[in-house]
Amino acid sequence: MCGIVGYTGGRAAAQVLLSGLKRLEYRGYDSSGIALISRKRLRCWKSAGKLQELENLLPENPAGHCGIGHTRWATHGKPSTENAHPHLDTEATTAIVHNGIIENAVMLREMLQARGVVLQSETDSEVLAHLIAAADGQTLQERVRQCLMQVRGAWGVVVSSTTEPDTLIAARNGSPVIIGIGDGEMFVASDASALVRYTRQVVHLDDGEVAVVRPDGFEVTALDAKPMTKTAITIEAGHEDYDRGGYKHFMRKEIDEQPEAVARTLSGRLDERFNTAHLGGLNLSARELLDIRRIKILGCGSAYYAGISGAGMIETLARIPASAEPAAEFRYRNPVIESDTLYIVVSQSGETFDTLAALREVRRKGGRVLGIVNAVGSTIAREVDGGVYMHAGPEISVASTKVYTCMNVVFALLALHLGRVRDMSPQHGRKMIEGLQALPELIEQALADDDHIASVARHYATCESAFFIGRAAAWPAALEGAQKLKEISYLHAEAYPSSELKHGPLALVDENMPTVAIVPDDDLLEKSLASIEEVAARSGPVIAVTNSDDQRVIKLASHVLQAPAAHFLLGPLLLGIPLQLFAYHCAIARGLDVDQPRNLAKSVTVE
Ligand code: GLU
Repeated sequence: MCGIVGYTGGRAAAQVLLSGLKRLEYRGYDSSGIALISRKRLRCWKSAGKLQELENLLPENPAGHCGIGHTRWATHGKPSTENAHPHLDTEATTAIVHNGIIENAVMLREMLQARGVVLQSETDSEVLAHLIAAADGQTLQERVRQCLMQVRGAWGVVVSSTTEPDTLIAARNGSPVIIGIGDGEMFVASDASALVRYTRQVVHLDDGEVAVVRPDGFEVTALDAKPMTKTAITIEAGHEDYDRGGYKHFMRKEIDEQPEAVARTLSGRLDERFNTAHLGGLNLSARELLDIRRIKILGCGSAYYAGISGAGMIETLARIPASAEPAAEFRYRNPVIESDTLYIVVSQSGETFDTLAALREVRRKGGRVLGIVNAVGSTIAREVDGGVYMHAGPEISVASTKVYTCMNVVFALLALHLGRVRDMSPQHGRKMIEGLQALPELIEQALADDDHIASVARHYATCESAFFIGRAAAWPAALEGAQKLKEISYLHAEAYPSSELKHGPLALVDENMPTVAIVPDDDLLEKSLASIEEVAARSGPVIAVTNSDDQRVIKLASHVLQAPAAHFLLGPLLLGIPLQLFAYHCAIARGLDVDQPRNLAKSVTVE
């Protein structure tokens, strides 16, 4: 789930590990640690809390050119120094860092205890260190392999041992591990952000693979020792993309980056000759696209909400029945997979466990799956039949902003493409293209209302709860707006389709319960106004988020957050911008750590 870094080479390993862990800090963690090998001895430092606590423990310039580091997001055992990784075997010959969950850890712990091993932590991970140390293989690689044969579950794991002081063994099953290739030095990490400062050449391990990493190179084998051929890819982003660049928070930086991010998503994809979108990676001919009868979109959290709005755009433009579902729910209900349904999985990291599992379930049953992914070369990107990269650039903040917007833009492109293969006229296609081309500038304009949004946010920041409502295309925008507020300001927020309010939630509306109403300038405007009336009639404060200039909105609402007019299908997407700023400023007003919200991690690679 959380962060892994490994290094072997000529540099002082501690510096490389700490700088890598700092990059991973924003993914959410509760404790951290590093282990270094120096003069054939393993030394380990761990601490609960922030990385700074770990740094305070370290001696100045700790010796060692090979080592491993970890930021933990507890799954088994409370967040504490003892439970922090690395974990060592009893003789302190072997150290491991592990992301994921060892499912048969209880049985393995009992087996080790019966042999007299005293375990130092409550984690599922510690068993790995003892099993590797006790295995009877000649090489560290063989011992790791023997250990992994005994465990069940998900792992991204890196092992260091005094028996081979400059070697790291990395293995993956369900939790990402990448190898960074340097010149006379090698890196291992759970995410490219941790090593991009040193190299942009990386190799992604696949499930069931084990890598032996030494300063002069690496080799990868399957668990049964069969050699695997791996190809390195070059990471697009530079290390400056992973910096805050003068901003106080990554979230704020990423909100402001949206005009460029959207321009990148659109770049080279608008085909003005045929008034369609050009999506090279779909791997589906026009004829195959014509045969699609249904579309099912799968994602988690904000990606699921983007899927709901994507389904709406596809139905509107292409008239193909489309719906979205949380990926985990989908796979656990033993879904019927149809050959004329196109499945689309959506994930920022391309590593989201539940989404990946749903993708595998669909493909196992013969379904065709497209991916909408941000991280190039990620597992989902590699396993789908085709797809579209967002090119939003790295998103560090736990709360998604620019990626959510870019997911919507990809869906708009896909809807246009599917529409133009079917009944959508060239004229309508042209309008949509113009709407999309205008987006970066419109987002810029929406961002300019920052001061006003901040003052409205300060006004409501002390509330305990808020409703978010929207109709049809505005409903996913309401879901996402409520999600943002919950994630970073810890305010209780619930989203409803506007029409549902009167079927129950309205009972909670009074002068202390604000309702954020998403009111796009579309043909449901009258209906949206009616919903606001219902709330206002019960003395509920209404914050209207709108791109309509209808005076009735201004009259009814207590506060108005205004965005510019846009193509009717892109309005809800644009209204997402003030909602992001509203959540951001509420969290700031409440004095909270926007980039590292409690209990949350950036990419959820555990079940
Ligand atoms: N399951 C392990 C633990 O609780 C690893 C957690 C993680 O992925 O950070 O220690």
